[in-house]
Amino acid sequence: MIYETAPAKINLTLDTLFKRDDGYHEIAMVMTTVDLNDRLSFQKRKDKKIVVEIEHNYVPDDHKNLAYRAAKLMMDTYNLEQGVTITIDKDIPVSAGLAGGSADAAASMRGINRLFNLNRPLKELSDLGIQIGTDIPFCIYNKTAICEGRGEKITFLNKPPSAWVILAKPDLGISSPDVFKALNLNDVHHVDTRMCEEAITTGDYKMLCQSLSNRLEPVSMAMHPEIEKIKNNMLQCGADGALMSGSGPTVYGLAQKESQAKKIYNAVNGCCNEVYLVRLLG
Ligand code: ATP
Repeated sequence: MIYETAPAKINLTLDTLFKRDDGYHEIAMVMTTVDLNDRLSFQKRKDKKIVVEIEHNYVPDDHKNLAYRAAKLMMDTYNLEQGVTITIDKDIPVSAGLAGGSADAAASMRGINRLFNLNRPLKELSDLGIQIGTDIPFCIYNKTAICEGRGEKITFLNKPPSAWVILAKPDLGISSPDVFKALNLNDVHHVDTRMCEEAITTGDYKMLCQSLSNRLEPVSMAMHPEIEKIKNNMLQCGADGALMSGSGPTVYGLAQKESQAKKIYNAVNGCCNEVYLVRLLG
């Protein structure tokens, strides 16, 4: 049996630069991980099936599961003769903007790489994974990085300064394609990717908080005003910075002192049923 941990990611920045000829947006985003994890285990099968075991109302256990798709990609690419049973113990909220599905897919690629002693370098898995989703190359490594292109051009950064992270997911679903469709690239929303990079390189926590920015945030907020309310609530309660992650709806706040983090946690706990107090990993 092989085990893998799949941490949730947050966007410290997310910028959309232009729409490409292939229909995807050219993006630039600084991402890091937090210690909120799915746990996966992998076992070889005697047959050639891929079996996903997961107990969750909103996550499929068939070929639609991203871990299944990743396993299929690995089997086809490396001509594996045996199947695999993947068990997923899920803690990352679903459809949240925290890349839970991508984290599971990436963990499956790493897990199968080890289970079958393929010894493929992570770069190769990352290049393969982009076929399944934008966030998968990042999730293969789980470090702190700038992801550009469609998400596949990865530049690693230092670990960010240590901080508490309060994650709050309002009880609503957002479809990433709908957010991208509603995005108007002519609307001005400055995202300073370089400032975020500099803040991380120099370990400047204050600058990091100032640089948090997400091009999709106003789009999702216009669809669901609750997102803005949660963000304002976090800032009023003393968060050093706050931002919506991905296409939302999860909003996170950063705090350096534990007492400050607990205050923010308690304030948003009343209005959201999924609230987590975790740490930046990076
Ligand atoms: P992203 O930030 O990459 O857009 P997300 O955090 O918004 O991702 P996910 O939690 O990854 O969203 O799930 C999005 C959809 O993918 C859901 O409809 C879910 O049912 C489906 N899905 C398929 N496999 C998984 C999985 N292993 N874990 C979570 N969701 C999965």
